[in-house]
Amino acid sequence: MFALGDVSTLTPKMAGRARRQAELVADNIRSLVEGGHLQTHEPSPEVILVTFGPDGGAAQLPGQDEIAGAEMAAQFKSRDMMVDRYADMFRIPAPTEQSKKMG
Ligand SMILES: Cc1cc2nc3c(=O)[nH]c(=O)nc-3n(C[C@H](O)[C@H](O)[C@H](O)COP(=O)(O)OP(=O)(O)OC[C@H]3O[C@@H](n4cnc5c(N)ncnc54)[C@H](O)[C@@H]3O)c2cc1C
Repeated sequence: MFALGDVSTLTPKMAGRARRQAELVADNIRSLVEGGHLQTHEPSPEVILVTFGPDGGAAQLPGQDEIAGAEMAAQFKSRDMMVDRYADMFRIPAPTEQSKKMG
């Protein structure tokens, strides 16, 4: 049985880490079926992205002591709340500018 995300022993509980665990679990299930080796999850460095409107926010990025500002937060999250990235992952069309405005 595999567990991932908040229901696992993952600490701290974070979406980015849950996503990487999901990829690993998928690989491990494939390995089980094909008779390969199982891999162990190695937690990635913490990333914290706080949004404040589409152009605002702050970020704590790996390997950086200083808090990154609004431009960095907007580039990685605030501008589209990562919706485009997840649409791509699920192979569905990304929302149009008009549908984003309509909520
Ligand atoms: C207020 C808040 C802010 C957060 N901010 C961030 C952040 O900025 N960055 C970050 O990385 N992480 C953040 N997190 C943490 C992040 O949301 C979680 O770590 C992530 O959602 C875990 O994903 P998951 O798939 O494991 O669980 P979930 O996203 O909780 O998904 C579990 C799903 O299972 C469903 N479910 C439950 N019981 C059943 C059942 N019996 N049958 C069927 N379905 C069921 C639930 O409805 C839910 O959809 C935040 C969490 C909170 C609460």
